[in-house]
Amino acid sequence: MPEQVMGKYSQRAVDFIDEAFLLSLLDAPAPDKVYLRDIIAKSLAKQPLSVEETATLLHADAPEMVEAVFDAARQLKQQVYGNRIVLFAPLYIGNLCVNDCGYCAFRRSNRDALRRTLTSAEIARQVTALENVGHKRLILVFGEHARYNAGYIAQTVRQVYQVKIGHGEIRRVNINAAPLDIEGFRTVRAAGIGTYQIFQETYHHNTYARYHPANTPKGDYLYRLDGLNRAMEAGCDDVGIGALFGLYDWRFEVLSLVRHALFLQHTFGVGPHTISFPRLRPAQGVVLDEQYLVDDNQFKRLVAILRLAVPYTGLILTAREQPRLRREVMAFGVSQIDAGSRIELGGYTEVADTQALEREQFSLGDIRPLDVVMRELLEDGYVPSFCTSCYRLGRTGEHFMEFAVPGFIKRYCTPNALTTLMEYLVDYASPETRRAGMQRIKAELTRLDDDALKRQLFDRLENIQTTNRRDLYF
Ligand code: SAM
Ligand code: SF4
Repeated sequence: MPEQVMGKYSQRAVDFIDEAFLLSLLDAPAPDKVYLRDIIAKSLAKQPLSVEETATLLHADAPEMVEAVFDAARQLKQQVYGNRIVLFAPLYIGNLCVNDCGYCAFRRSNRDALRRTLTSAEIARQVTALENVGHKRLILVFGEHARYNAGYIAQTVRQVYQVKIGHGEIRRVNINAAPLDIEGFRTVRAAGIGTYQIFQETYHHNTYARYHPANTPKGDYLYRLDGLNRAMEAGCDDVGIGALFGLYDWRFEVLSLVRHALFLQHTFGVGPHTISFPRLRPAQGVVLDEQYLVDDNQFKRLVAILRLAVPYTGLILTAREQPRLRREVMAFGVSQIDAGSRIELGGYTEVADTQALEREQFSLGDIRPLDVVMRELLEDGYVPSFCTSCYRLGRTGEHFMEFAVPGFIKRYCTPNALTTLMEYLVDYASPETRRAGMQRIKAELTRLDDDALKRQLFDRLENIQTTNRRDLYF
């Protein structure tokens, strides 16, 4: 590579999306039942699937085969991950943007967007509002603009960690922003970020070119695809990938996400921490091209298939989806959801309970308050968790341990989920949610078979209820 290009891309920069091959996999015939069973068995044994095997699941579209895939995804979720669901909230920091992505209200050609970057006082107000309802994990979201450079992102992260009110604090700050250069990733890493998310949007080259004009920074497909390689080279080993479903054939995007996950795993020895699968939503001034919109049934399938293909990777289901569908899809192996989300700039303090389309990037499907979502989760048998322990103890690149190491969930994840749930119940919950939560904690405690651990956990739960001690993680 020429020298200036070397600085721009990582040493591993390569377009690993073998499009012709992946497309050819979409033409394969439907699998027979025996082969499908073998693939499902492999996945239930927690072995990641190849793109070829994933393609087989995509072809399993006879109703009984679809059901078999759904059942397996539910089973894998239960066996491998348990009933925990991690909660977070997005915080939009600024919507200045030099790009012109065809689907986004923040695109530079949208003259009707109200442009705004939160001041540091406004950020403090938003974070305070989030802490006051019980959030502990945020994802900060930025448009792409010189103003939102790595130093600015790092400074914002530091500020968010400093905002504390009562028992409220943010313990993990993730980022969704433009891809940085290696130095930039070093800068944000030093500020203590959690996951750095970059969505490729579409992995299909021509479609990518259509939605991302060549004269914009995002128009460089390889620079974006290489973004998380640069993150890894800079020591950020906690990264999230994603595709915006609805731009191109959903089955191709699923194969590409699996290809991307496998590439990171093979190249760096660490796969992505999370995969996101946002579906295209209405946005200001955007006329959606309906050809590739993903219907609910296809959406359910894609989540279940991703669950089976990458058993060690967290799956994020966002509030773009409606409550009913979220509830259903959650069971297929989702590990994180956002709740109580507002994506208008300043939305946590300045808007009422309706959405203001001219102030947001797209419209959300679920704007129920955190407490309502918590209650529903508890009543459905989940343990909502605000745990941030692995990341704070440096167990980041090893996030797969929670799936791969026998007993890890019992030893760490469940106890940490329960202590953070107890904090929520004591400090923030409504009486109804507290009641549902206390019942759940009791039920979970009876399931623990390690007496020493149970005693320790019991003490910590007592402490949270009777003292001001918080953040008692394992
Ligand atoms: N500007 C950065 C970027 O583009 O990567 C990061 C933030 S962008 C605000 C976050 C994500 O929102 C994008 O990666 C895209 O997948 C998603 N998004 C944009 N427009 C959307 C729409 N109309 N519906 C649903 N998701 C959308
Ligand atoms: Fe800008 Fe990101 Fe929206 Fe594209 S998706 S216009 S880069 S904010």
